[in-house]
Amino acid sequence: AAAVAPLLRIEGLSVRFGGIVALDGVGFDVAAGQVCGLIGPNGAGKSTLFNCLSRLYGWQAGRIEFAGRALDTLPRHRMAALGIGRTFQNLALFTSMTVRENVRVGTHTHQHAGFLRDALRLPGVRRLEEEAEARTEEFIALLDLGAVADRRVADLPFGTQKRVELARALAARPRLLLLDEPACGLNHEELEGLGDLILALRARLGLTVLLVEHHMGLVMRVSDKVVALNFGRKIAEGTPEAVRRHPEVIRAYLGD
Ligand code: ADP
Ligand code: MG
Repeated sequence: AAAVAPLLRIEGLSVRFGGIVALDGVGFDVAAGQVCGLIGPNGAGKSTLFNCLSRLYGWQAGRIEFAGRALDTLPRHRMAALGIGRTFQNLALFTSMTVRENVRVGTHTHQHAGFLRDALRLPGVRRLEEEAEARTEEFIALLDLGAVADRRVADLPFGTQKRVELARALAARPRLLLLDEPACGLNHEELEGLGDLILALRARLGLTVLLVEHHMGLVMRVSDKVVALNFGRKIAEGTPEAVRRHPEVIRAYLGD
């Protein structure tokens, strides 16, 4: 039988900023439906890799393939249509808008993406609106935001704002979700909830997740595999346990 191609394939990816080498020949695969943890000390290149995957940064060498297509041939505005969604290390929300309005923006991204396809099925504008509203409510419920749906994002605690950002990213129906330090600033209870949610998303939606995270407990709990970076290089890849015990990983964290 033919091998199943990975959803995401990164090969020999290199990114330089002047004299700084942010990524140096990094390569790994993520299979569909997998949660892949991406760890490494500050400055290792994790966010740079995410920025390449969302086409915010270019790269000097290497290749990124998503669902069998080279990423660099696609215009940036097609990213959502292609099915790559993300959250940011520093939140990127419309803080003067309500929770519901923010989540609704996510469905809008998806609608634009599928506009032609939807139009050919002649659903009518009304149906599109109803579908967007239904999906907005679905993700508000999934992220337990019902009680604050009409509040302004700016007035909510940080942990809640992070759930709003996640709801908005999910409302665009990504196939691959990039999470940049989602546990940062969360309390213990919120952290448990986040772990449950990531596992539920994989089980229920078959979502593929690339997770940048410093919180080792969360990475260990939810990841099928882990990739470790240090100074822009991949230093380990494997099961969470194997990567955690890898001598180069231990050295990288002790030297941090
Ligand atoms: P991490 O997310 O693992 O902490 P980053 O990817 O943010 O690491 O950074 C990797 C290296 O690339 C760092 O040395 C950082 O200063 C540098 N870097 C990242 N983005 C830029 C940029 N836009 N301009 C210049 N240097 C950058
Ligand atoms: Mg970072």
